[in-house]
Amino acid sequence: MSSQHDPFRTLKSFDLGHGRQGKLYSLPALEAAGVGKISRLPVSIRLVLESVLRNCDGKKVLEQNVRDLAGWQPNATRTEEIPFVVARIVLQDFTGVPLLVDLAAMRSAVAKLGKNPKIIEPLVPVDLVVDHSVQVDANGTSDAFARNLEIEFQRNRERYQFLKWGMQAFDTFKVVPPGIGIVHQVNLEYLAKGVLSAESQISDLKSEIYYPDTLVGTDSHTTMINGIGVVGWGVGGIEAEAGMLGQPVYFLTPDVVGVHLTGALREGVTATDLALTVTQMLRKAKVVGKFVEFFGPGAKALPVVDRATIANMAPEYGATMGFFPIDEECVNYLRATGRSEEHITVFENYYKAQGLWGIPQKGDIDYSQVLDLDLASVVPSVAGPKRPQDRIELPKMKDSFVGAFSKPVTENGFGKKAEEFSTVKAEVSLNGSGSAAIGHGSVLIAAITSCTNTSNPSVMLAAGLLAKKAVEKGLSVSKVVKASLAPGSRVVSDYLSKTGLQPYLDQLGFNLVGYGCTTCIGNSGPLAPVVEDAVVKNDLVAASVLSGNRNFEARVHQNIKANFLMSPPLVVAFALAGRVDVDLSSEPIGQGKSGPVFLKDIWPTIAEVRDAMQSALKPEVFRTLYTDFAAQNPKWNEIPSSVGNVYAWDAKSTYIQEPPFFVNFSMQAGTITEIKGARPLGIFGDSVTTDHISPAGAIKKASPAGRFLLENGVTFENFNSYGSRRGNDRIMTRGTFANVRIKNLMLGGEEGGNTLLQPEGTKLAIFDAAEQYKKRGTPLIVIAGQEYGTGSSRDWAAKGTNLLGVKVVVAQSFERIHRSNLVGMGVLPLQFKEGTTAQTLGLNGSEVYDVVGLSPALKPQQDLTLRITRADGSVTDVPVRCRIDTPIEIDYYQHGGILPFVLRDIVRRAS
Ligand code: SF4
Repeated sequence: MSSQHDPFRTLKSFDLGHGRQGKLYSLPALEAAGVGKISRLPVSIRLVLESVLRNCDGKKVLEQNVRDLAGWQPNATRTEEIPFVVARIVLQDFTGVPLLVDLAAMRSAVAKLGKNPKIIEPLVPVDLVVDHSVQVDANGTSDAFARNLEIEFQRNRERYQFLKWGMQAFDTFKVVPPGIGIVHQVNLEYLAKGVLSAESQISDLKSEIYYPDTLVGTDSHTTMINGIGVVGWGVGGIEAEAGMLGQPVYFLTPDVVGVHLTGALREGVTATDLALTVTQMLRKAKVVGKFVEFFGPGAKALPVVDRATIANMAPEYGATMGFFPIDEECVNYLRATGRSEEHITVFENYYKAQGLWGIPQKGDIDYSQVLDLDLASVVPSVAGPKRPQDRIELPKMKDSFVGAFSKPVTENGFGKKAEEFSTVKAEVSLNGSGSAAIGHGSVLIAAITSCTNTSNPSVMLAAGLLAKKAVEKGLSVSKVVKASLAPGSRVVSDYLSKTGLQPYLDQLGFNLVGYGCTTCIGNSGPLAPVVEDAVVKNDLVAASVLSGNRNFEARVHQNIKANFLMSPPLVVAFALAGRVDVDLSSEPIGQGKSGPVFLKDIWPTIAEVRDAMQSALKPEVFRTLYTDFAAQNPKWNEIPSSVGNVYAWDAKSTYIQEPPFFVNFSMQAGTITEIKGARPLGIFGDSVTTDHISPAGAIKKASPAGRFLLENGVTFENFNSYGSRRGNDRIMTRGTFANVRIKNLMLGGEEGGNTLLQPEGTKLAIFDAAEQYKKRGTPLIVIAGQEYGTGSSRDWAAKGTNLLGVKVVVAQSFERIHRSNLVGMGVLPLQFKEGTTAQTLGLNGSEVYDVVGLSPALKPQQDLTLRITRADGSVTDVPVRCRIDTPIEIDYYQHGGILPFVLRDIVRRAS
C-alpha cells in the first residue's frame, strides 16, 4: 500500500459496477478546479496528465508539473519536461536480459557497500516476454517448430537460467517463457488490462485507487498497445531501469498531431497497406518526437487489431506514439480476448467517469496540427527496398526495383550497372529437388513474421485464404525461397487450424517455425549454402519479402540486400512469384494447372476474410492459452535456477557477466568539465542505425567479438547472435560499430567496423583501436550525419559507445531514444548547427577535438564550441548545440549516467 497526496482535491468516487465504488483522480474535477481546459486536450495528453496528477507528491512530481501539462497549448514552444510515472514495464529478452544484469550488478554494488541488496527492487510490475531468441534454423517441414525450439533452448540455456534467477530474486519481475508469443502481441492479447488499481492511503483514508494502464517498454514497437488506448512507448533499457526503480520517465512536452481518418478501406486493401501509407505520410509530415492521435469517423470504424497494426509502426513514422483513444471497439476486443466481464465494466465506467470515452470527432480537440487521410484512398502497397517509409504502390513494384538496381547508393539504390540486371544468373542445384536459376530480384526469404501483422487476424487469415486458392490452382513455391510462418501467439495457430487454412500454408512451405520475432529481428537463419554461395559469388541483389516493420540493410539477412515490407498475403504472393521484379497487377503470378494465374484470381475478398474471422477471436481460446505458461512449457521447467538475492556471477560465462558500470562506485558524483584532446573513432554519414552501432545479428568469426569467443572456447556454430549475448559486456563492447555494413568515412566509406588509429594512421578494428586509445588515455569522439541512432531502441548502442571510451558524439541530428540513451550512459550528444557537416568542415579523422564551454553550470540545450585542431596545426571553432535536453539529464550526465544517479539516490534514501 502506498501513501498518496491529493493537492488539487480531485479524488472522487466512481461506480465500479455490481454495487461497488472505487476512487479515481478525476480529470473533470481538475478542470472544475480551474487548472486548465482539460476536456479539449488530446486524449493521450490527458492520460499522461492523470499520472502526473496522481503522482504529484511535491518531490518527484510537483504541482507546477500538473499546472504545466493541464495548460498544454497546441503550438507552444516546448521547454518543460514531463515526469511520467508509468503503471508497468514490458521487456523482451534481448533488452530485458541486460536490464536484469544491471539490476543484479546494482544489488552486487549495494552488497559491497554493506547495505541490504533488497533495496534494489522493481517498484512497478515488470513482465518480460522471451520472444527475440528463436531463429529460423529449420523451416518448410512439419517439425520445424519443435526443432527451432530445441535449438533455441540449447543456445540460450545460460540466459534462461539467469532469467529464472531473476524471477525468484525480485518480487515484481515475471517472465513469459519462450514458445508462447511476441511481446507486443502478448501485451495486447493478455498483459494489458486497460485500467489498473492499487490500495493507497490518502491522509487517514484507505482507498482502492483506479488508474489508466500506462507503460514503457524496452522495445520500440511497444507503441502497438496504443491501438487499445493504452499510453506507452519504447524507451532505452537504461530509462526503463530508472522507471522500474521509481524514477519518472522524463520527456519533453510533445506536440500532438491529430490524424483525421475518414472513409473505409476498399476491397483488396489490407491494414498493412494502411499502416505503410500512414508511415509514409507521417514521415513526410515530420512527426519525430511528437504524439500522433488518430480520430474521426474512419478511426472509430477501425477494429482494434487494425489500430494496433498502425500504432505498431509509430517508430517507423518517427512518432513517440500512434495513439487511438478509448471506445466500444476496445471493449469488444477485451471481451473477444477473454478478459472478464467484471473487469470490462470497470474499464468502461472508469473512462466514462474521466470524460475519456469515445473517439473524438473534428473540432472536439485542439491538436498542434491536423492531417487528413481518407481510408478509401489507400491502395495495395509494399515498402522498401531499404526503408519502411519508402512505400511503393503494388503495380509500380517492378519499375521501382529495376530503377533502384542502378540508382546510386546515396539515393537508396544498389549502385549496379543497369545492363547487369538480366544477364547475371546462377543455377543452383537443390538437394534432391532439381535445380533453379536465381538472379537479381529473386525472392530468397519470404517470412510471415512480426507482431505488426501477426496480431491482426484479418491479414493472417487473408494469407491462409490466398495460400488455399493458390494450392487449388496448382501453384507452388520454389525450394530456393526460405519461407516461414512465425505468429506472435498460439492463438493464430488455433484459428489457422480451425479454419483449415494451415495445411495450405504448409504446402507452400509456410510451416510454423516458432512463436517469436524470427525474421523481423533478423533471426532469419541461414540460407541453403548453395543459394548463399551463389548470392555472394555473383554479388546478387536478392530480395526478402516479409510482413515486418524494418528493412534496413543487413537487418533481415547479411547477404540479402533488398528487403520489402508487405502484408502476409502479399508475402505468400511474392513467394509464389519467386521474384520482386514483377508487376502483380498485370503479370501472372505463376503457371497453374489451367494456365497462367493472376494475383486477382487468388486474392481473398473482404467477405471471405470476415467469414473466417468469426472463428478467430474466441474468448475461451485466449483464456486457455494464456494460463499457466510453465505447465505448458516442459523445457522451461527443466531449466535449473540458482537462488538468492545476489547473483553468483560465473567468471567463465560467455553470456552473463557483471558489467563494469559500478566498478569503484562511490557515493560522490563527479563534476562536469571540458573534454580535451579527443580523437575520432569514426566519422559516419546519414542514417546510422542502432543496428549499425550495436548489431543484433550474427557474429563474424574474424571480428573482435568472434575472436574473443573463439579464445574462450566457443565454437563458431555456438556463437549465437549479438542480441542473445547482451548480458555480456565483453562481447557487446567488441561488437560496437562492428556491423558489416557500417561505413567509416575515415576509410573512404569502406564497409565494416574499422578505423584509423591516429596519429599513426594504422587501420584497425574499431574495438582494437579503442583499446589502444584507452592505454594512451585518449578520450574519443564520434562524428555523424542526420538521424544518428535511428532504428530500434538499443541500450547497447549507448553502453557500448561508453565502454569503448567515447565521451562525445557530434551529429547533424539524433533519433529520440538513442540521444537520451547516450546521456543516460554519460556520453555527451552535441548537434551541428544547420548546414554544418563533417563534409563542409572537411574532416578526415586526423584531427584532435576539444569541447569548450562545458562546466558545472551547464544548461539544457546550451551552445558550446567544438574546437578542431587539424594535422597541420590550424584550428577551427565550430558552434554546436548541447543535446542534453532537460534539467534531470544534466544530473544524469554529471553522475556519469542514470544508473549511478539512481543507485546513489536509492542508497541515500535507504540510509
Ligand atoms: S516481432 Fe518485430 S516488431 Fe514485434 S517485438 Fe519482435 S522484433 Fe519487435
